[in-house]
Amino acid sequence: MKRQLYTADHEAFRATVRAFLEKEVLPHYEQWEKDGIVSREVWLAAGRQGLLGIAVDEEYGGGGNPDFRYASVLAEEFTRAGTPGLAIGLHNDIIGPYLTSLGTEEQKRRWLPGFCSGETVTAIAMTEPGAGSDLQGIRTTAEDRGDHWILNGSKTFISNGILADLVVVVARTTPEGGAHGLSLLVVERGAEGFERGRNLDKIGQKSQDTAELFFNDVRVPKENLLGELNGAFVHLMTNLAQERMAIAVAGIAAAEHLLEITTTYVKEREAFGRPLSRLQHIRFEIAEMATECAVTRTFVDRCIEEHSDPDGAGLDAVHASMAKWWATELQKRVADRCLQLHGGYGYMSEFPVARAYTDGRIQTIYGGTTEIMKEIIGRSLLG
Ligand SMILES: Cc1cc2nc3c(=O)[nH]c(=O)nc-3n(C[C@H](O)[C@H](O)[C@H](O)COP(=O)(O)OP(=O)(O)OC[C@H]3O[C@@H](n4cnc5c(N)ncnc54)[C@H](O)[C@@H]3O)c2cc1C
Repeated sequence: MKRQLYTADHEAFRATVRAFLEKEVLPHYEQWEKDGIVSREVWLAAGRQGLLGIAVDEEYGGGGNPDFRYASVLAEEFTRAGTPGLAIGLHNDIIGPYLTSLGTEEQKRRWLPGFCSGETVTAIAMTEPGAGSDLQGIRTTAEDRGDHWILNGSKTFISNGILADLVVVVARTTPEGGAHGLSLLVVERGAEGFERGRNLDKIGQKSQDTAELFFNDVRVPKENLLGELNGAFVHLMTNLAQERMAIAVAGIAAAEHLLEITTTYVKEREAFGRPLSRLQHIRFEIAEMATECAVTRTFVDRCIEEHSDPDGAGLDAVHASMAKWWATELQKRVADRCLQLHGGYGYMSEFPVARAYTDGRIQTIYGGTTEIMKEIIGRSLLG
């Protein structure tokens, strides 16, 4: 079915993203995978190309274009290229909205120009060794000392953790406040007592620097409180819908791409004197996956449309959760079946299907696990 979502402007943007990937990302990607981190230069190149801060107002150096369809084109192209290590989507679609929607005028002037140029790489630090799905378990504390906070604690699994110059940290500002005792504090590179731990060794997305962060008596100025005091939980709930949509967009794009490369493979690979694609089992596998992808594509595109509506309130948390769990679980199933259809070659790292299998496995976990998505949906229906 022809997609109805994009205009000629979106397609022109797609061409720009593809050219950027060809020139600035793909020639270096293998090296970054070995290094466990992408270069700082590629962030600056992305800034020059106008790929950072697309939704940020022009007065702060951004693209001035809040249409989520541009974010979705970017996610689709990075997924097709197999380059999730350069986490531009996280920077733009997940951290960007916290700065633009919650930042004061002074904070926006301080942080957004670097955000858009690529000089300031960002991260968000919610997860702790003892608290992931259950954010109420957060133990990082920020003690009020008049004109500043003293931050203590540690975070783990933080994407862009090594490169980040600005980290939005979720910390407890009211000890007995439960979920409503948490605030967002911005910690900047160079703050005394802010240390990075290991660049974690993962099974996929090797070039994405996912790290531990430590805060030992870090002095955070009061001017770095983002949003309302004790308001983090509400801010997170508001912004997590877009995070989940961005992950869902990548999920269906990955499934479609896997199907495409596997369809080509089974037409070329021969067994028992004929191409695999002549065997009924293989044909049914491809037919089933194509059907599941088409059905999912329709739903995700409708969600993107709703989320991009300039007159709407954005996609609600429940539908974003549905899109996230469904599209990423589909991605996981399709990756497994496509790898199987490649036989032994599917297990070889040099084959794109193998990389997509390991890179994609995290999708049902980060941004809220499948089980937490179902909890959110269930709660909306059953209380
Ligand atoms: C590569 C990578 C990148 C990441 N990037 C970031 C980042 O940038 N910033 C950040 O803050 N975090 C990040 N994370 C952390 C990620 O969001 C968490 O790992 C995730 O939310 C799950 O938390 P957890 O690992 O503590 O698992 P747990 O919460 O311990 O969950 C373990 C299992 O129990 C299940 N479970 C938990 N609660 C329930 C429930 N109520 N009902 C049913 N089942 C339940 C879960 O679904 C899961 O299957 C990243 C993680 C990885 C691996």
